[in-house]
Amino acid sequence: MSFKPANNIQDLQYFGEFGGVNPSISDSSTYTFLSAKTMMDTFEGNTDGCHLYSRHTTPSNLYLGEALAAMEGTETANVTASGMGAITPVLMQLCGAGDHIVSSRTIYGGTYAFLKNFAPRFNIKTSFVDITKLDVVEAAITPNTKVLYCESVSNPLLEVADIKGLAAIAKKHNLQLIVDNTFSPLSISPTQFGADIVIHSLTKFINGSSDTVGGVVCGSQEFINELRSVNDGACMLLGATMDSLRAASVLKNLRTLHLRIQQHSKNAMYLAEKFENLGLKTVYPGLESHPSHKIFKEMINEQYGFGGMLTVDVGSLDKANALMELMQDKNLGYLAVSLGFYKTLFSAPGSSTSSEISEEEQKEMGLSDGLIRFSIGLDADIERTYDIMKTCMKEINVI
Ligand code: PLP
Repeated sequence: MSFKPANNIQDLQYFGEFGGVNPSISDSSTYTFLSAKTMMDTFEGNTDGCHLYSRHTTPSNLYLGEALAAMEGTETANVTASGMGAITPVLMQLCGAGDHIVSSRTIYGGTYAFLKNFAPRFNIKTSFVDITKLDVVEAAITPNTKVLYCESVSNPLLEVADIKGLAAIAKKHNLQLIVDNTFSPLSISPTQFGADIVIHSLTKFINGSSDTVGGVVCGSQEFINELRSVNDGACMLLGATMDSLRAASVLKNLRTLHLRIQQHSKNAMYLAEKFENLGLKTVYPGLESHPSHKIFKEMINEQYGFGGMLTVDVGSLDKANALMELMQDKNLGYLAVSLGFYKTLFSAPGSSTSSEISEEEQKEMGLSDGLIRFSIGLDADIERTYDIMKTCMKEINVI
């Protein structure tokens, strides 16, 4: 039977304290105990269902975590203050001094910077590889490797990870396979292909309203308990905790994710085909010309499509900047980083979200100056959007 992530979210039933259709928001940072013994037991991690302090758990955070675990098919999940607030504790929990990580070289610039510049301070080293080449991935593994890290669809180059192939390698070498699924929620369910831990920046499609940062780690109960341990849990001790009011708000937005992803994907597919037909260098996993189109197709939860992200290479940074400014003038979207908004967002990643990656490395991985990353919006009339975009492209001499 195929995996149905949106059904899993819908099938959860929460009531508020007074029968509200939304769960009540826990507006407290700390919790009372009826007996001192229960407090002691809770600190020792022995009392299920008790909350002690909001950096550890809150009812609202647990509701959101449960819904995201249901979506990703994991036992449980822990929500965090941002996507980076999910990624960094997971890596710090799994790796210590002397350990090694094999990571995709095309990942979000912040994650790359953490692995490249920050983790070495703790003597955690990373080899960055072309994640689409399984033999190269396996060859990079050393006796000290603990983690295999990738994004299901990579930021910004939209490389697609062969999660099944990577999971087989991870299993063979006793590694944890961590997949950042921020670019393809619902469309790809990494655990169905063997991922151990799935991470999202909730800031993007899942929240979908560009009004907050947030993150989540979806995994086994054992691992999430480890992250939350008061003694040595990286989520508990590093402190990137989501606020309960925000968790309640993200949960409400999560309920429309299936509709939004369908519309993002439909609009992105339409534009990608049109751009490609114009002769533009277009990268979209839904296009047959995409080198990993077949792999995405093997993993896809079909009704959600290939996602809302596409890139177009317009040849130079000057042209990219001129085109983005013009598109913003025509109100086709915003010249802004991030993704998953109702409005189209565009940016040139080489000089923004991936600027942490050196020019030389950008060149090596195929990240060119003229690349524009689009997060396609929920436009009701995508034909009209395309017509205006085409006029802008003509004016800037891109076509
Ligand atoms: N993962 C991916 C793929 C991202 O694109 C981003 C942010 O752009 C992050 C993680 C980091 O998330 P946040 O900004 O919520 O910390």
